[in-house]
Amino acid sequence: MSILSQRDQAAVWHPFTQHQMSSLPLAIKRGQGAYLFDQQGKAYLDLISSWWVNIHGHAHPLIAKAIYEQALRLEHVIFAGFTHEPAVVLAEKLLNLLPAGFSKVFYSDNGSTSVEVAIKMAYQYWHNQGEGQRQRFLAFSGGYHGDTFGAMAMGRSSQFFEHFSDLLFSVDHAPYPATWTGDEQIAEKENQALLWIEGYLQQYHRELAAIIIEPLIQAASGMRVCRSEFLLALEKLARSYNILIIYDEVMTGFGRSAANFACEKAGTHPDIICLAKGLTGGFLPLAVTVCQEHIYQAFLHESINHALVHGHSYTANPLGCAAALASLEILEQQATLQQIRSITATHQEMLAVLSALPGVEKTRQCGTMAAFDIAVNTTYGSKLSQAWRNIFLEHGLLIRPLGKVIYLLPPYCISQEDLRKAYMTVIDVVKKLTQGEMHASSSYSE
Ligand SMILES: *Cc1c(COP(=O)(O)O)cnc(C)c1O
Repeated sequence: MSILSQRDQAAVWHPFTQHQMSSLPLAIKRGQGAYLFDQQGKAYLDLISSWWVNIHGHAHPLIAKAIYEQALRLEHVIFAGFTHEPAVVLAEKLLNLLPAGFSKVFYSDNGSTSVEVAIKMAYQYWHNQGEGQRQRFLAFSGGYHGDTFGAMAMGRSSQFFEHFSDLLFSVDHAPYPATWTGDEQIAEKENQALLWIEGYLQQYHRELAAIIIEPLIQAASGMRVCRSEFLLALEKLARSYNILIIYDEVMTGFGRSAANFACEKAGTHPDIICLAKGLTGGFLPLAVTVCQEHIYQAFLHESINHALVHGHSYTANPLGCAAALASLEILEQQATLQQIRSITATHQEMLAVLSALPGVEKTRQCGTMAAFDIAVNTTYGSKLSQAWRNIFLEHGLLIRPLGKVIYLLPPYCISQEDLRKAYMTVIDVVKKLTQGEMHASSSYSE
């Protein structure tokens, strides 16, 4: 381990890390395309796009240049009472790219803040119209929406927030019909979930502010896929009761689902959508909460009381906006679209191979995201899943299992050769894992 890793340990506290158990962090010196390089020059293929943000790979020169040039002109300006070109052009571009009906872009800093803004928008939307009794939110079992308090309340059924449960405002949770390849029960599961939701709406629709969902795939709880059919049926139900729908597309946005957005792929029309992660191509923290016109209209009034009194110091940071504009430009190139199609096809082909292995369960895919379960009993952050992560790292692959779920979510620039080679390694490792050879191996435990 490098000196830097040791200095890190003396001075830094890392996210989602049990420092007593974890190995020293890997010090990364540089990145290029789909690869990261450590201090010794060892290469790691980044198969999780560095926590799902890095859609075009690392150190993309076009985005780097856009940030540099913007920094020489204007690095930041207060966004209340002021504006600037990158923020305006980015909002226009996003509205063009999103399905029809969206009309206003509210900027913030990250996925969690984009969800907080959505919650406040939906809640105050009703308040402003004299419907202050709408205090309930409906989320989905297993959903994850970020680590701030509103977002934690929405995601309280995910496994991460037990310590804080007494502090969270109450949110109701509907069953989520997760599915996978060859799942014969899915129509039945969807019917059950929809029946539950209909019963809930009948009882509570006058108290309900909004429904929030990660459309097509619940990411952090284990890459749990649902079908478009479910989202369409959910939307129909919500509309019949006049309930707002919030899509948390923080992870699914910007090509991940193989469409620009999951709502586009599903053919649905949420009232509010949250976008972050891939927005700047992984260069800078920036997020947006985009709403339909009727939401915005409900905030117009003679008094500040009706306004959305929310903002962050770095709202609509020009460098972030410039990075996002460059990232969108790359996303729209033919070569990128072709890459997204190739990744999607390779996932499909290789998941079929994996699904034939003993001990591999529930292969599933949503565009450029592929996942499967290893048939063992283990949970998020367990020693076993950390050991698996280290095994993959030793093979030069950055893969971060979520408990027993192994997933591949590569940057779009990954070459077919690299992706196929990575799958061969994954298949080899999984064969050994499921034969038990590595379970007890002391060299991998921490
Ligand atoms: C990551 C994530 C968030 C939180 O985003 P941060 O930028 O980490 O705050 C919210 N929702 C979903 C679906 C996510 O995947």
